[in-house]
Amino acid sequence: MAAFANVFGGLLLVRADWEKRYLRYFIALGAGFMMATALLEMFPEGMRLAPRLAPVLVLAGYCAIHLLEHTISAHFHFGEETHRHEFMAAHKGYSVLAGLAVHALFDGVAIGSGFVLSRWLGVLIFFAIFLHKVPEGFTVASVMLASGRSRRVAFRAAVALAGATMLGVLVILLAPGLVTAGLPLSAGVAIYVAATDLVPEVNREPGIRMALVFFAGVAIFLLVRAALPAV
Ligand SMILES: [Zn+2]
Ligand SMILES: [Zn+2]
Repeated sequence: MAAFANVFGGLLLVRADWEKRYLRYFIALGAGFMMATALLEMFPEGMRLAPRLAPVLVLAGYCAIHLLEHTISAHFHFGEETHRHEFMAAHKGYSVLAGLAVHALFDGVAIGSGFVLSRWLGVLIFFAIFLHKVPEGFTVASVMLASGRSRRVAFRAAVALAGATMLGVLVILLAPGLVTAGLPLSAGVAIYVAATDLVPEVNREPGIRMALVFFAGVAIFLLVRAALPAV
């Protein structure tokens, strides 16, 4: 379902005219929910599995995505890509796709790791990841269009992210022992995605409404968490 949301996001971009403002609400809600899940579930759970190694892996996950999304490709942000001048060199679109594909792989690892540990942890992490998957597919399709690619290629880029997500889930389900490293690594990735990819998009919107949606994301997490049986 999370992978399909990538494809749906890509379709949204290459298809109809619609109010793109709504996507930003998704981004804000997803950022709050994801931040809460990463800090209150994934990080402590990772610490329990590997008390000494987990903090290092969280930092490693954070740094890896910073390297792949914002160092190798100098210009990247979530949401619609409107800065065509940044993509004069067509290969730049592919470097963004490569960075996002590794990030999407860890989205899958996160979901898989959650389900290896318990069904409810899996469900929580699934929602945390799911909420940013539509904007993610939209973003990659929009980057490909801005770098001069066709709509067909833009849509395929979103499908590629979906494939990377499925692969991440598969890796953990086939080798559940990897969860010890996979969960803290993907916690670092999730913190990066929430705080560094999504929150700046929330902050770009003038006014307080969008910022409040972030807190709503945190609040919804706390409500869902309270309603679930003990993990
Ligand atoms: Zn841009
Ligand atoms: Zn993602």
